[in-house]
Parts: sequence; structure tokens; C-alpha cells
Amino acid sequence: MAAARLIDGAAIAAELRRQVAEAASRLRADHDVVPGLATVLVGADPASQIYVNSKNRACTAAGLASFSLHLPAEVAENELLDEIAKLGADDRVDGILVQLPLPRHIDRLNVLAAIDPAKDVDGFHPVNVGRLWSGLPALVPGTPQGCLRLLRTVHADLTGAEAVVLGRSNIVGRPLAALLLAANCTVTIAHSRSRDIPSLCRRTDIVIAALGQPLAVKSEWIKPGATVIDVGINRIQTASGSRLVGDVDFDKACAVAGAITPVPGGVGPMTIACLLANTLVAACRRRSLPDPALPG
Ligand code: NAD
Repeated sequence: MAAARLIDGAAIAAELRRQVAEAASRLRADHDVVPGLATVLVGADPASQIYVNSKNRACTAAGLASFSLHLPAEVAENELLDEIAKLGADDRVDGILVQLPLPRHIDRLNVLAAIDPAKDVDGFHPVNVGRLWSGLPALVPGTPQGCLRLLRTVHADLTGAEAVVLGRSNIVGRPLAALLLAANCTVTIAHSRSRDIPSLCRRTDIVIAALGQPLAVKSEWIKPGATVIDVGINRIQTASGSRLVGDVDFDKACAVAGAITPVPGGVGPMTIACLLANTLVAACRRRSLPDPALPG
């Protein structure tokens, strides 16, 4: 079988960011609105700091306003909730993102529930989760939304396609399953307690791996010609140092799959692009303006 077509997440994300910037510029010209994203970082975890900085930089590059709030690791939960309420009341702010993980003394669920659902650009508020599963317009988490946008570049119509989602986290697996269902796929969700995952995969047209297990999905699990979306980002040690790999044994899977995302350069770049898209959508919906036309 010929090598799989590579789904170029970096290029697709760059195009989405370009379209967000274009739509933001029209919103400014037509309605004098500049969509704004507020990021909230608690503590000084270096990885979280890098993520938040790149989100803020991406906002600025797309012509969106960005506000960043950095609180000390020992901040009380009530103080954090007060800050989130202030951002909820601030009309310049259309999106609020609280960078996870939070310090242990703070209840993540209380914090996520305190975000105004209309500004919940990470899509983790129970209202948005419920709306997504009910098939209603919702703010949808960036990573699963990015996966669907990538899938759409291969399958314009997903109706009737059989998909297996490996992983049931609230951040990736579950919302992705809801999105695929809304797109008329037949969806199987597999997880650490599922039996015979290789057989589940072998019968599906689409395999989405979000396990956090390096190279776990083998080429023998993949139906010839299937589309494989690899969400995993894992650092493994090599003789010369370390490298990033996905959850799929990419080199071998390429010989079997019809289309596949690389790691890095697949799903990863889509997450921030979708966050920007969500901020733009939130800005429009809060003002009862039509949703911007974006690809996917
Ligand atoms: P998680 O640990 O919260 O969830 C992993 C899920 O996989 C769980 O539901 C678990 O039941 C399942 N699982 C784990 N091992 C399994 C096994 N051997 N067999 C079957 N199921 C198994 O992880 P997450 O937050 O959903 O992230 C998954 C992966 O995606 C990680 O590698 C993470 O780094 C990556 N990720 C990437 C992005 C991005 O590209 N922007 C965003 C989020 C997560």
C-alpha cells in the first residue's frame, strides 16, 4: 500500500489563524469590536507559563486583545473566583481561559464552573459540555475541535463513518466523541478498561488516539486506508537525547493508513488556532452577531 497522505496540521492551523485575523479585522471595521482573551495563570509552572505566553502571543498576532492575569501559587480559591467574576463582568473580555493544572488547594471544578459560559473559550464549563452533548451550539474545547477540523480535510462528509476514539478524558476523548456523533459518525469510545482495543480499531474508518501512551497504537490495529488522528504528545528518551512522539507508531502506521497526522505538526498547532476561533465566536455571540465564517 502507498504511504499515507500526511494531514498537515501546521498549515491547516496557519490558515485558520489567518481567517480568524481576517474576520477579527472585519469585526473591528464593521462593529468597532476587538475580541479579547484573558488568560489566568496561577503559580509558576514553567510549562504552563510557556503555554499561556504562546496563547497571548497568538492572540496579538491575530489582532485580538489579550489580557493576562498571573496570580501566586498560594492564592486562595475565593480570591481566584473573585478575579474570574471580574473578568466575567469586563466587557473587553470575550474569552476567559484558566490554565490547568491548578495548585492542589484549589478545586478545579469550582473554578471552571465560575467562568461565564458565554466566555468559556476552553469549553470546560458544564453548560457548554451539556450543550455539546445535546447537539446545541456550544463553545467546544480546542483540541477535539482541531481534530474534527483536520478530519474534515479528508472526509468532507462524515455521515455513517465508523470512528473509534481511544481515551475518555474531559479535555479530548469525550468532547471529540460528542463532535463525531454530531457529525453523524458511529462512534466507539475506548479507554483503559476496554477489552480488545485492536479489534475495535481494525473495523473503523477513523482512529483517534488520545491515550497519552507513546507509540501504543500499532500498524496492525489499523484498517487499510483508515484515517488516523494522533492527539498524543509524549517525550521519549533516545540514544541521542529525547524526541516527541504521538500515541501511534507513526512510521509503520504510515504504510497502512490512508491519511495520518504527524507528531509534532498535526493536532498540536490546531489547539491554539481553535482557541482564537472560539474567542472570535464568543465575541460575536455575546453581541448577537452571526458566527464568523471559518473553515471546517
Ligand atoms: P488523560 O490522561 O486525561 O486521558 C487518557 C485517556 O486514555 C483516559 O481516558 C484513559 O482511560 C485512556 N487510556 C490510557 N491508557 C490506555 C490504554 N493503554 N488503553 C486504552 N485506554 C487508555 O489524557 P488527555 O489529557 O486526554 O491527553 C491524551 C494525550 O493527548 C496526551 O498525550 C496529551 O499530551 C495529548 N494532548 C495533546 C493536546 C494537543 O495536541 N494540543 C491537547 C491535550 C492533550
